[in-house]
Amino acid sequence: MNFDYPAEAESFRAEFRAWLEEHYDADRFGASDAVMGIVDSPDALERMREWNRTLADAGYAAIAWPAEYGGRGAGVMEQVVYAEELHRAGAPGTLNVIGIANIAPSIMEHGTEEQKRRFLPPMRRGDEIWCQGFSEPDAGSDLASLSTRAVADGADYVVNGEKVWNTFGTIAHWCELLVRTDPEAPKHRGISCLLVDMGLPGIETCPLTTITGENEFSEIFFTDVRVPRSALLGPENEGWRVAMTTLTYERGGVASLHLGVRKKVAELLALARTTHRGGRVAADDPVLRQSLARVYLEGEYLKLLSDRAVSGLLHGRPAGPETSLAKLVWSQCESHIAEVAGQLLGPAANTGRWGRDRVYVRALSIAGGTTQVNKNIVAQRVLGLPRG
Ligand SMILES: Cc1cc2nc3c(=O)[nH]c(=O)nc-3n(C[C@H](O)[C@H](O)[C@H](O)COP(=O)(O)OP(=O)(O)OC[C@H]3O[C@@H](n4cnc5c(N)ncnc54)[C@H](O)[C@@H]3O)c2cc1C
Repeated sequence: MNFDYPAEAESFRAEFRAWLEEHYDADRFGASDAVMGIVDSPDALERMREWNRTLADAGYAAIAWPAEYGGRGAGVMEQVVYAEELHRAGAPGTLNVIGIANIAPSIMEHGTEEQKRRFLPPMRRGDEIWCQGFSEPDAGSDLASLSTRAVADGADYVVNGEKVWNTFGTIAHWCELLVRTDPEAPKHRGISCLLVDMGLPGIETCPLTTITGENEFSEIFFTDVRVPRSALLGPENEGWRVAMTTLTYERGGVASLHLGVRKKVAELLALARTTHRGGRVAADDPVLRQSLARVYLEGEYLKLLSDRAVSGLLHGRPAGPETSLAKLVWSQCESHIAEVAGQLLGPAANTGRWGRDRVYVRALSIAGGTTQVNKNIVAQRVLGLPRG
């Protein structure tokens, strides 16, 4: 099912498509499905930086931002079109995606004018890379239990503690850091948010190698780090509100996940039609056909969930628990796609892009809210079931 898009969105589509045709060069900037190991490869990192700058200088790096900060104040449908066109061209998005999509909205909503002017322009161009310092070894799903401590001392906070699973931690210039400033207050009320310069003395970043062999993540250790009080984002002890702004925007990103899933399903269908096994075309295998049908339907279902969320936004209904449902369906579908690739390609599915996908999918059931936590949200807030 497809909906008609408003004329302004279609006119933006034509403009952005023409720009991409002229400026996006896969050999120079890399392809969206080859964006792996960015953190490990200086060449890939530099390519992505250049692509981020190219998008930014043409006004296409942060289209949802207000014009005064270098965006174009794009509405929901333009944002949908933007994702579709990047996808159609096979072009990657911005390198500084965590900053632009998740952290910038928090700075815009809770920051001072000075913070907005200082941080947003270099963030948009990817000149300064940002990471999110939220999770800790004992505070992931239960984020409000975080214990990294910041104690006010003169013009500074002195920060001690440990963060973990920080995407881009090793390349980041700045970190949106959640710290505990009032250990006596109820746990959600004693948290503050600091915008921390990753070059400060006492910060040590250690890369974490994942099962894919990449160093996407890191641990960050803070030992007596003196962070100026001017780094506070929002009022002291109201960091939970700031964190919720960031996480709401992170969840909003699920609206375009169906694009990647449906592209992979289309690739599997094409492969099944051209791969021969046991004297026949793989697509004729009844067991494989069932698996293909399942992932196809899951992809279409994900698209409908996305359409529902977009339609809600257009009618003034903020994204709600359906983003948890979409996150759940997406991670399960990616995992099923990986299984089908194995069924179809056999040992060949253990190398190259499919090989990476087949192990990386494990992370998708954890990142941005685990499967179990999302099931709880769906049970309570969609189905109205009592807390278990
Ligand atoms: C790819 C990826 C990128 C990430 N990027 C970042 C980042 O940039 N910055 C950052 O700060 N963090 C990041 N994270 C960390 C992520 O936010 C946490 O891993 C996630 O919140 C889960 O926390 P945890 O790992 O501590 O697991 P835990 O919360 O300890 O959960 C362990 C297990 O218990 C289950 N569980 C927990 N609570 C409940 C409950 N109430 N009911 C039922 N089951 C429950 C979970 O589902 C899970 O199976 C990233 C993680 C991944 C995988």
